[in-house]
Amino acid sequence: MDTIDNVNISASEPVVFFTGAGISADDCGLPTYRGTNGIYSTNVATPLHRDNAQPERVHTVWNHVDSILRAGRGPGSAHIAIAQFAASAAPVTVVTQNIDGYHERAFRDCGVDAPVWALHGSAHTAACLRPECGTLFTPATRRNSEGAPLCPSCQAVSRPRVVLFDERLNPEVLAGAQQAMQRAWTVVVVGTSCEVFPAAHLVYQAVDAGAKVVWVNPLPAPASLVDACRGNQLVQLHGSADTVVPEILHRHLNDAVDR
Ligand SMILES: [Zn+2]
Repeated sequence: MDTIDNVNISASEPVVFFTGAGISADDCGLPTYRGTNGIYSTNVATPLHRDNAQPERVHTVWNHVDSILRAGRGPGSAHIAIAQFAASAAPVTVVTQNIDGYHERAFRDCGVDAPVWALHGSAHTAACLRPECGTLFTPATRRNSEGAPLCPSCQAVSRPRVVLFDERLNPEVLAGAQQAMQRAWTVVVVGTSCEVFPAAHLVYQAVDAGAKVVWVNPLPAPASLVDACRGNQLVQLHGSADTVVPEILHRHLNDAVDR
């Protein structure tokens, strides 16, 4: 069993935090995708299918996204610890599967200007569904009777700018994330089972390029990742993100100050 004593992150080497729903689960009140109350284990995953991104059905997507955001209380202590670590001038990149915007908010609150690649988009941006308009806006605007925000330019209904099931990832976001992964000396995988592809493939790319992996999750790393890490250091810390991540990073911040 590994302990945080096994973790060795240099504050001068590129580190990528690859995060999933588990980073927002305990502190922030959001459901994980695959835990006991995961959204894949209930039928609520269905509203997020791409077939619902049509004017007459898109309110079901919005209702679901709104319910996720309403349940949230973030950013949590893990988001804040990562932002504080990045504020110490450590070369940090966040690659997240979450759409809640908590990493971005924690970075803003800490005055950090480090990249956050949100693979599945952001629930805080709406896109007009009329192709010839396509205006992007903040969804806190007028909504139709079913709850879908209306475009401020043309009054058409909008969709959240998130990647729905069976949709492709944004190629620019994916490219940015890939580049960070290939340069990473350490990848800290937080609160994701690494079983949702193509997002999880990024971690394997980092491992192929020689990165060390720190795994923070109540559940063990999948056997395929353990296999892939043969020859690279893999440290597994089985706990919740909001206790383990601050413990690791505060220790590394203190070490940096002591030197
Ligand atoms: Zn419009």
